[in-house]
Amino acid sequence: MNYAVKKAKKRLFIGLLCITYVIMLIVCSGVWFITLPGLNNINSHLAPAFAAAMIGILFLIGFGILGMLFGIKGWPLPSVFKKQTYTLLNVLFYIVISAGKIIGIDRRRIEASYVAVSNAIVHNRHLKVPADRLLVVTPHCLQLSTCPHKITTDPNNCKRCGGCNIGDLVTLAEEMGFHFFVVTGGTLARQKVREIRPQAVVAVACERDLASGIQDVYPIPTLGVMNIRPNGPCFNTKVDIEEFKRAILEIIDVPDADGNAQEKEQK
Ligand code: SF4
Repeated sequence: MNYAVKKAKKRLFIGLLCITYVIMLIVCSGVWFITLPGLNNINSHLAPAFAAAMIGILFLIGFGILGMLFGIKGWPLPSVFKKQTYTLLNVLFYIVISAGKIIGIDRRRIEASYVAVSNAIVHNRHLKVPADRLLVVTPHCLQLSTCPHKITTDPNNCKRCGGCNIGDLVTLAEEMGFHFFVVTGGTLARQKVREIRPQAVVAVACERDLASGIQDVYPIPTLGVMNIRPNGPCFNTKVDIEEFKRAILEIIDVPDADGNAQEKEQK
């Protein structure tokens, strides 16, 4: 996999996750010792039940972190664990962001790292979806600011003049058959998800929008492709079309010469 987000360090998110996990272990142990006398006074079965619940939750989280490492390394994992790992990644996202804030790490760096980890986990699921069940969304800032055509209502209004990457994406959508929309924000993106009901999403955006977008459309698996910002954020942004194509070809189910679908993730 070779998306722009690959350049983001996956180990930042995983490192923060491990620190968070150690803190959770310490906090849980502290809670256990503080509440033990009181629980024993109420009922003798309460303390073991409480301990079993805490150990169970911590075990699941620990197992999920291990699953993320497997996902990043591309090592095989049973399908059920791959889904559990993706779920846990999204559940723990805000806890890791909070941990990073306390330590003083820039939120954007953590979001970029999160997107890189998420991409690796989706990649390791070896998903294949039909082209008409894939939704591609990009932000409005990808359009040339001086372009007069209203592409947010319909990207086919683009005249493909070559002034920005929208024309390339419209052409690819036409050739490959996926749904493509230019959205002005998360609300419109969620509306498109409700309308299309995709099996997978590929999003082009900055690290902030990709991170929140992945969270918004969860549990639909999403691949994030980082945009390029030669003019600063949110203005005349670009996308590396080759990287974008690689992301699409990774997830789209292109039938072989005999018309057979490729291997799909087991449900
Ligand atoms: S490629 Fe399409 S959206 Fe971009 S400037 Fe040309 S007409 Fe406008």
